[in-house]
Amino acid sequence: MRPNNAISLPAIDDKVMRKQAWQTPPASHVTGKARERLLARIKQLLDEKNAVLVAHYYTDEDLQKLADDTGGCVSDSLEMARFGHAHPAKTIVVAGVRFMGETAKILNPEKRVLMPALEAECSLDLSCPADAFSAACDAHSDRTVVVYANTSAQVKARADWVVTSSIATKVVQHLYERGEKILWAPDRYLGAYVQEVTGADMLLWQGSCIVHDEFKASELRKLMDKHPEAAVLVHPESPQDVIALADIVGSTTEIIKAAQTLPNPVFIVATDRGIFYKMQQAAPGKTFIEAPTGGIAASCGSCAHCPWMAMNGLQNLAEALENDGPEHEIHVDPEVGLQAMKAVKRMLDFAEQLKLNATGKANIASPA
Ligand code: SF4
Repeated sequence: MRPNNAISLPAIDDKVMRKQAWQTPPASHVTGKARERLLARIKQLLDEKNAVLVAHYYTDEDLQKLADDTGGCVSDSLEMARFGHAHPAKTIVVAGVRFMGETAKILNPEKRVLMPALEAECSLDLSCPADAFSAACDAHSDRTVVVYANTSAQVKARADWVVTSSIATKVVQHLYERGEKILWAPDRYLGAYVQEVTGADMLLWQGSCIVHDEFKASELRKLMDKHPEAAVLVHPESPQDVIALADIVGSTTEIIKAAQTLPNPVFIVATDRGIFYKMQQAAPGKTFIEAPTGGIAASCGSCAHCPWMAMNGLQNLAEALENDGPEHEIHVDPEVGLQAMKAVKRMLDFAEQLKLNATGKANIASPA
């Protein structure tokens, strides 16, 4: 049943989108000598083109390792954009999905942003078309508009705040304390989680991540019974009954940190399995198990791994650098970028204030 604070989605055929996503062919996997040659070529091209590689935690291990080895970074979407901004390279190569390339371009309008696969989408972004979203904002103009980072540049441009999963609760708590009501988009699970924690008045867009949506609480309970020594780490894009079983609910960065700081020898992890590469580095010797996506009502074709993230590979990364052409370059309308930057910047300033303020309360004015 739809909760009474849900905003009806525009006419998007969610089933068709999911089916197409799970049928998306992954980037071709290169092994042996060909892989070695490609790695060497990419390193040379990064150097020649004055470019830096930033990769998301959910991309292939080869890409994450390459980013680390070449002085780039592996992180979440916002840190990827921030890193690209601070780095002197003139070109940022983003291994991830489209909204991440756009966020990098918003924060770095003067730099070129290239991606191995411009067709790599995100179901949250796709569920929230700019026109329909803008209409919802107009219909609820008394509300402060807070959007998740997994949105297009146009949607960010319509928002008052952009947030990541690591700061969403703190921003909404801040707005709630100021008496503001929220229009939240697009992830319904993260929105519901933030609402539960803060008690804020939130209208929720009804998008979801096709990967996290597949985690199943019934199967997770069985796995927990088999591993009573394990801590359960859950990303808040997961369904509410899965979140309810978590020892820690957190962003990708917080999940990696939990693996380091919790004493448990075993972790059951409900997020994309690409994150295991960094978790193993952060906590060597510990055991990581994918949270189950199988069982009744499962429909995924590539359990616990985003089909769009899987479109990034060594071959198309090399092509992006080699061809340097429009089929790999991200463009954001400068006006839209400028407007979106304001909402992103508001979050960055807030995060900075949080760091500075030991009490955890930032003194930041909300938008009018
Ligand atoms: S894992 Fe989910 S939220 Fe992340 S890019 Fe893929 S579809 Fe989007």
